[in-house]
Amino acid sequence: MPRFADRNLWGYYSMDELKSKLFYEQKNGYDLIDAKERLALEDYCRGYMDYLNKSRTEREAVNNAIALAEAEGFVEYKVGMKLKPGMKIYRNNRGKALILAVIGKKSMADGAVIAGAHVDSPRIDLKQITMYEQDEMCYFKTHYYGGIKKYQWITLPLELHGAVALKDGSVVDIVIGREPDEPKFVITDLLPHLAKDQMAKTLAEGFSGEGLNILIGTAPYAEEGKDRVKLAIMSMLYDRYGITEEDFLSAEIAAVPAQDVCEVGLDRSLIGGYGQDDRVCAYAELKALFETKKPERTCVCILADKEETGSDGVSGMQSAAFDCFMKDLCESQDVALRRCYEKSFCLSADVSNAFDPLYPEVSEKRSGSKVNYGVAICKFTGSRGKGGTSDASAEIVAYLRRLFADKGVVWQMAELGKVDQGGGGTIAKYMANRNIDTIDAGTPVLSMHAPFEVTSKFDCYMTYKAVLAAYQDK
Ligand code: MN
Ligand code: MN
Repeated sequence: MPRFADRNLWGYYSMDELKSKLFYEQKNGYDLIDAKERLALEDYCRGYMDYLNKSRTEREAVNNAIALAEAEGFVEYKVGMKLKPGMKIYRNNRGKALILAVIGKKSMADGAVIAGAHVDSPRIDLKQITMYEQDEMCYFKTHYYGGIKKYQWITLPLELHGAVALKDGSVVDIVIGREPDEPKFVITDLLPHLAKDQMAKTLAEGFSGEGLNILIGTAPYAEEGKDRVKLAIMSMLYDRYGITEEDFLSAEIAAVPAQDVCEVGLDRSLIGGYGQDDRVCAYAELKALFETKKPERTCVCILADKEETGSDGVSGMQSAAFDCFMKDLCESQDVALRRCYEKSFCLSADVSNAFDPLYPEVSEKRSGSKVNYGVAICKFTGSRGKGGTSDASAEIVAYLRRLFADKGVVWQMAELGKVDQGGGGTIAKYMANRNIDTIDAGTPVLSMHAPFEVTSKFDCYMTYKAVLAAYQDK
């Protein structure tokens, strides 16, 4: 081993040669792809925008994923089903989460290749006792879901999506406001002329959770009495859906932004729309799985629910629903689940924050993910001293470096903001806690959790290529 002072490389290279040999330099993704790939990217993003437009809740994202999967030949998994290599199966977890798999040539004892995204997004849920009339105006009371900046949801056209479960066991699906000629809903705000006190408050204090009440009507029922507007609205809902006020007790209805997904920028290089965190990765996984015909190892695609509220509950990633499905596959081959997990690999496919030049103060530029620099890999997430993260091993990162270089995946290493600025988590730790090697990989997003999130088409496409590379690895 040479001593440090030997300086063996000096004099043999020019400075530029030596820099390119020794320094790590990132390139804008557009400099790394050809015209053919640019067309493929546009094609991919058209499909994604269509899926996103139709999938405004986790239930819709699951239903639409099943429809796409069945068109690709996937069938619902039944316990005891004989599994052959290349078989395509799915399990629907209560209409809110979905697991799909393509059976590999190798045994489950060799582990599975898993990609896990979530299909729930921040939104405004209706309370169970929700409808009230105040000063001859009718409202829904709400309880927001996930991490929102409340002011962003005020004076924004909203549409309603959800399901009402009736006492007789049937479920009524509700969508109001999605079609252009349908009415929208709104949470109103003060006029600036009278907002002196409001404007003096902080952003966090300016709007309260109990103040997020959605205006739903003003025309009274044609008789004298109390709650005339509420009665008129309720009778319309009864006419259209056959529901009464009591039925809201067993309903899940969410208000989401009433705006179509669209291209952003004169060059149309960006995609804007609600719910890209994390349906952008969900769609990438689906498309990658559909491309994977007879993989070496069994490929598994997870579309989880409840990530935005901590991955708890039956449809969240901490639920045993995933283990049950994997155990069923293992048992059909006489393999112990733990043997499968310890050999498995998981891409926790979730979005990262894109560096935003308008808010440079919260990011450490060298370590933030950049728009158009490809799929972002986070070795760890968490907050403060890497609290609450799974932290993928260096060996796993090295594996991805090799894999992505082989498969032409443009990628970048990323961290969520400056140290001690805040932080966040994904489903990664819940996968890693199962003894599955796991790493975060996802699309950088501008305005994450806003009603209108922005991604770059290039990064969306590279997220798909990253999952495809993992699924199709030997
Ligand atoms: Mn997410
Ligand atoms: Mn999120």
